[in-house]
Amino acid sequence: MTEQQVTHGAGPLDDAHAQLAEAAAHLGLSEGTHRMLAASRRELMVTVPLKRDDGSIAVYKGYRVQHNYSRGPAKGGLRYAPGVDLNEVRALAMWMTWKCALLDVPYGGAKGGIAIDPREHSLPELERVTRRYTSEILPIIGPTVDIPAPDIGTDEQTMAWIMDTYSVAVGHTVPGVVTGKPVSLGGSLGRALATSRGVAHVAALAMRTRGIDPTRATAAVQGFGKVGHGAAQLLAEHGVRVVAVSDIDGAIYAPGGLDTAALTIHAASTGSVRDFSGAENIDATELLALDVDVLVPAAVEGVLTADTAPLVKASIVVEGANGPTTKAADAILAARDILVVPDILANAGGVVVSYFEWVQANQAWQWSEDDVNARLADKMDRAWHDVSAYSVEHAMTLRQAATALAVRRVTDAHRLRGLYP
Ligand code: GLU
Repeated sequence: MTEQQVTHGAGPLDDAHAQLAEAAAHLGLSEGTHRMLAASRRELMVTVPLKRDDGSIAVYKGYRVQHNYSRGPAKGGLRYAPGVDLNEVRALAMWMTWKCALLDVPYGGAKGGIAIDPREHSLPELERVTRRYTSEILPIIGPTVDIPAPDIGTDEQTMAWIMDTYSVAVGHTVPGVVTGKPVSLGGSLGRALATSRGVAHVAALAMRTRGIDPTRATAAVQGFGKVGHGAAQLLAEHGVRVVAVSDIDGAIYAPGGLDTAALTIHAASTGSVRDFSGAENIDATELLALDVDVLVPAAVEGVLTADTAPLVKASIVVEGANGPTTKAADAILAARDILVVPDILANAGGVVVSYFEWVQANQAWQWSEDDVNARLADKMDRAWHDVSAYSVEHAMTLRQAATALAVRRVTDAHRLRGLYP
């Protein structure tokens, strides 16, 4: 429909556009409004040269896309992964807009990325590439403009370098330019585990909806990074038996449940979850097909596809990752009455606590971790309630309801502000 949609191929952006089109039709949006929401407001593509430790020069492609800022400053993570491209960043930025609107935090949506494999670089190289990228995108970021945060391949150290580079450029320290910073630099208590905490929280709510007692439930978690690792731990704290997890190297399965604390130590010392004592090594695709109550895809986009969705035996899928379920898979899971808690709800805990971090930075005040966690639970409960009620009222999937609610909020903000000039 838009130029972006016509010129680029399949993948997350097509899925994001299809979700928006469905919401636009449901809400009766005009063609013009739909076109406006389908296109990003700003897209910056930059070349990031890096002087490597051996003196050679490598050159990477970097992106920052601001999908929308009708409800407030653009907000979203920064991804370092070899496959990052403009269409992926566009899709992720659009999902950030809906996520922030759904959780009712006063932000629009953005995303950034560099097509780089961080595992192939030393810390000094990562620092140089981060600082150079920051200086390239500096004109369009800022605490009231666009606020980056960690995503795949980036962490609190990356955020500290961005904050420092920005602060040096403007001549004073600006903690509110990024979130997900180290706590000692104004990061929020509870931010590191916030996405996972939100995932576990909505998983418990979804189990209640389906009449499943968490202490009798089983779960499989695909991905053992920032989100999946914490989700496995916190699900276990809710009493759920986590029987399988996977990472980039493969999966492990223990029907009696994995000791997530011991697994953390094993993964940290060996670099992988594989070969964990008491667990069987299995194929990563086998994990998706395990007979569990809850499946948590917590890695990357496009994991549940037309090929893998028919294999799923879980009755609940909680999307820890952004965009793990393709459009075709979504239809298959819905037809099979599998409850899918969509990414823009399930993994929103991260950006909610990012918002709390930004509020604390603006107030120069630190909240206690209990306070942060209680406010996070409150936000997740409200969003869950809004989405569930809307899905029942309109006989929709949770994803359709969540997207419709979010798109309506963004459209309302746009309508009230009016189109300039
Ligand atoms: N990268 C995270 C996400 O996809 C967090 C974004 C943020 O905190 O701004 O939601």
